[in-house]
Formats: sequence, C-alpha cells, structure tokens
Amino acid sequence: MLDEKLQPIFADVLRRNPGEEEFHQAVREVLDSLGAVVAKHPHYAEDALIERICEPERQIIFRVPWVDDKGQVQINRGFRVQFNSALGPFKGGIRFHPTVYLGTIKFLGFEQTFKNALTGMPIGGGKGGSDFDPKGRTAGEIMRFCQSFVTELYRHLGEYTDVPAGDIGVGQREIGYMFGQYKRITNRYESGVLTGKGLTWGGSQVRTEATGYGAVYFVERMLRTRGQSFDGKKVIASGAGNVSIYTMEKVSELGGRVIACSDSDGYVVDQAGIDLDLLKEIKEIKRGRVSDYAKARGNGATFVPEGRIWDVPADVAMPSATQNELNGQDARTLVKNGVIAVGEGANMPSTPEAVRTFLDAGILFAPGKAANAGGVATSALEMQQNASRDSWTFEATEARLATIMHGIHDRCAEMADTYGSPGNYVLGANVAGFIRVAESMRALGIV
Ligand code: GLU
Repeated sequence: MLDEKLQPIFADVLRRNPGEEEFHQAVREVLDSLGAVVAKHPHYAEDALIERICEPERQIIFRVPWVDDKGQVQINRGFRVQFNSALGPFKGGIRFHPTVYLGTIKFLGFEQTFKNALTGMPIGGGKGGSDFDPKGRTAGEIMRFCQSFVTELYRHLGEYTDVPAGDIGVGQREIGYMFGQYKRITNRYESGVLTGKGLTWGGSQVRTEATGYGAVYFVERMLRTRGQSFDGKKVIASGAGNVSIYTMEKVSELGGRVIACSDSDGYVVDQAGIDLDLLKEIKEIKRGRVSDYAKARGNGATFVPEGRIWDVPADVAMPSATQNELNGQDARTLVKNGVIAVGEGANMPSTPEAVRTFLDAGILFAPGKAANAGGVATSALEMQQNASRDSWTFEATEARLATIMHGIHDRCAEMADTYGSPGNYVLGANVAGFIRVAESMRALGIV
C-alpha cells in the first residue's frame, strides 16, 4: 500500500505519462520505498521535491533519417530523456531496439538517476535510444544510422552537459561511429562527451567488463552476509550480450559454474559450464546467436527454443537481458528449485510480483539499480581519465570498481537497517539513491 502522502504524487505521474507502463512501474517501486523516509523526514515531501524528481528535466524526440544499403531512405525516432542533473551532467546509455518508445527511455532515465546517485560519483541521470533495429543490418547501415542520430543529438551533448554511453544494441562500434560524427561536427576532440570508447581513442580499461563484473562483486558481497560465496555454485545468467558475458567471466573466476544463458530465440544449457571463449567468438566476433553456440558444442549443450531459462535449477540467478524478463511464476520456480540469491545485471528485469516473491521467500535479492551500477561507475572513471588526460591500468581501474561496488552494497544494507527492513536491498537502494538526489536538489533551490 502506497503511503498516503505519496498517493497523489503517483496519481499525477499516471496522469502526466499515459500508457507508459514501465515508467509507472519504476516510479511506483521507488515511491513504495519512500513512505518510511517521508514519515521520518517530512521536509523531503515539501516544495514538490518528489514530484520534481519524477518529472524529467528535458525530453528530446527527433527524426533520424538514414539511407539503407539498397538506397532506400528509412526513418526512425530518436529519444534523449535528460532526467536529473542535480548531481552532475546527465549520464546514461543509448538503447537501439525496435520496442523502444518514450516510456522505455523515461523508465531507464529514472532508474539511472538513482543508480548514478548510488555510485557516489558526480553524475546525473539520463537515457537515450531509438526504435532502430540493428539486427541484420550491415556495418555500413549501422554507421550511417549512428551518424544521423548524432547529427541531431550532438547539440544537446557535452562533457559538462550530457554524456551518453552504450546499452542494448549499442556497443563500442556504435559509440565509435557516434564519437567520430560528434568530433567532425564540433571540430573538438572532446573525449569526455561519450563513454564506452575504445582504448586507443580515450576509452577506459574495464569499461567493457564493468557491468557484469560489478554485478558479481555486489552479489559476492551479499552472499558473504550469509557466510556464502560463488565457489562451487551453479549460476544462470540470462542474455548473451555484454552484461551476461562478463558476469559469466567473473563468476567462473570466483569458482562458480555458469550453466545457462539465452537470447531472444531461446536458451542454452551446458552443465559443464558455458565455454566463454567459444561464446565470445560467436557473439562478439561473428555477431551470432546462442543456438550457434549449442551447435558448435554438439552433444555438450542443449538449446531450448522459446522456453524459460528460469526453469533451469541453479543456486544463483543473474537476470542480465532486459526489463520484465523474469515474472512471478519464474520467481516461484527459482525459489522452489532452491535459488539462494538473485542479482539483476539488467535494468528492472524482475516484475514487481517476482520481486515480492523473492523478498517474501527471504532470498538475497540485488536490484538492478544497485547491482548493475558498475557499468556507469566505470563510465564515470572514464570521464575522470579523460578530464585529466590520463589512462589507468586494468588492475587499478578494477580495484576502483570493486571498492565502488562494495560501497554501494554496504550503503544499501545500512539504509535497509536504518529504515526498518534489514536485508531488503530494494528499499536500501531506493532510499540511499533518493536521499542523495533529494539533498542536492534542496540545496540548489526550486529549479
Ligand atoms: N547503459 C548502462 C546502464 O544502464 C551504462 C550507462 C553509462 O555507462 O552511462 O547503466
């Protein structure tokens, strides 16, 4: 039940953002955690502070025309939601996926604001994207699309204004095309305007691995609160993109065995442990599918088209694909099969019913805005290196990432204790993120 003071705020969000279900879901989840905070500190409910946090500072929607390989002109829609800049320049990735609409980007920008606050670094929240579908497109088409996207977006970016990075459908290749176009239009080598760059042109060590590694560091620390570790654990990591792959890599380093991963066609089970060199070659070099992995592994692996990866019994589940990929039924199956921890590598992958199921069952549950913050935290480290025209070693950067993730874990745990719900990382993350943004906004006046 939503706190009485917060009910009209949520009603207003529904009225102002009709049909944007994911955004409603993300806002509702945060507001659900804030009842205890406004009861203890009524000043956070003054001056429409919470209302302002729920309303993006700026929303940009634009046409992206481009020419495909057949010479046909195509158009897509581009978005950038500059959600909150109380803590620093807007910061957050760009997603290319055919399902993207304003509500997707708004929910992601809202989540990003709290996630970025949790890192303790000077970054505000934003998100961008397009309904462009990169699947089956040639490198030339991708390049022309990215160039057109930036030709419009560049005027809203800047290392002190708004700093995008990758997300689903946008990796180092796409960031390269965008950075190239930004540099050409502005005639400035402004490295800090985008993160996720390649190592020879201003990128940071560990940025590629950071989201997956960070999620594993978080879950490792969470497991430790119950005297557990990844050692000898069976793990499933949905997805087979950047987050999933580097989650698997760190889990294996820590002695765990990842036995299943997936893509939009289905999932693969490999009880011997996913062969990461093979998976990386298929996904990162050949841009292939999880079914190609199963084929290459022969009898060693089984491909299950269209099934639920969550049916595979495991000790730890790391949903690392996309929003709402794990529903209430999936959660009940995982709990029944004895899962002890769930760490969200993706943004909002568990439905509200799934989250409730995990919390009610007393499972260790790490929400995405805390567990997957390692990606954006390492982006902030990339910005630091760019600003000081420096580059750090892999070891030094990874050590910073580990410290940041442990810090986020501990802050969430402490807030959960303070607000009467020990072990509830959902509450802890929402409250810790909120307080940091709210304090800065109060200090900056009504803006
Ligand atoms: N897209 C990532 C996220 O969801 C990274 C954002 C960034 O590095 O700016 O946090």
